Amino acid sequence: MRAVVLEQQQQPVTPTTLPDPVPRPNQLLLRVSACAVCRTDLHLRDAEIPATKLPVVLGHQIVGRTDDGRRVGVPWLGWTDGTCRYCRGGRENLCEHGRFTGRDIDGGFAELTVADERFCLPLPDGPPDDQLAPLLCGGLIGFRALTLAGDAPRLGLYGFGSAAHQIAQVAIFQGRKVFAFTRPGDLRTQEFAKQLGATWAGGSDERPPEPLDAAIIFASAGELVPNALKVLAPGGTVVCAGIHMSDIPSFPYEDLYHERTIRSVANLTRDDGYELLALAPEVPIRTTITTYPLEQTEQALADLRAGRFEGTAVVVP
Ligand SMILES: [Zn+2]
Ligand SMILES: [Zn+2]
Repeated sequence: MRAVVLEQQQQPVTPTTLPDPVPRPNQLLLRVSACAVCRTDLHLRDAEIPATKLPVVLGHQIVGRTDDGRRVGVPWLGWTDGTCRYCRGGRENLCEHGRFTGRDIDGGFAELTVADERFCLPLPDGPPDDQLAPLLCGGLIGFRALTLAGDAPRLGLYGFGSAAHQIAQVAIFQGRKVFAFTRPGDLRTQEFAKQLGATWAGGSDERPPEPLDAAIIFASAGELVPNALKVLAPGGTVVCAGIHMSDIPSFPYEDLYHERTIRSVANLTRDDGYELLALAPEVPIRTTITTYPLEQTEQALADLRAGRFEGTAVVVP
């Protein structure tokens, strides 16, 4: 099969040919029709998080089809032991032996992939494959972050990329007001956020017109945490939704006082997936995508790093 492989971190991913994968018990063999690009793929490529297996096929937002024509989604959560204290307590996202698609298990930047059927997600009928793929991480982990932000009528989103452009739509559907924060001066992305229904859009160094009840930080810049705390109302929460973030600078305790909270989000549970994929057609979540052929996966990663597109990059083998 044709595939794109990360041989070494901090090196470009390269097109190659690999033997067709052979499914093991419980696994489905899938023909990949679309695989969206996530910032985690870029963190792995750029060595900002450790690679557990090299070479590896990246990509964990996979829409694929079985031989008998079933369409399924393959998310980041690829396998759990089902027996550890987290799995037994309903928090399989924290499984002590969890394995993740496109890091521990070869992912979707390829013509074919295999995935444990128990972790494949049912997809709503209707939207085409390439428009559904971004839901499988940006949508799902964004949705988990939104849930952990609690009942917050005024919601800030820092970093308005793949996850935020989907979660803004869900938040507005739920009746919340969305305040979008972009890189200072990124007027194009601020306009994009307003088109999707944001009440206000501005730079991450700006104060929104009213205090926020929660802020989700999708960008990987640690200095956004104290920025976000400063615009929170008492009792508000900052949710850090990425797998990697640069160091968080120190800040005065009074910015945290009055029961403000900072928390992170790690991975997803299958229940997060079932819930969002059932909700998506009701909203409906409309993804903005830029597609790339498989051989141009490295270009898609470079364009993500440089912020060259709005929404999500999707690789189509
Ligand atoms: Zn991801
Ligand atoms: Zn476990």
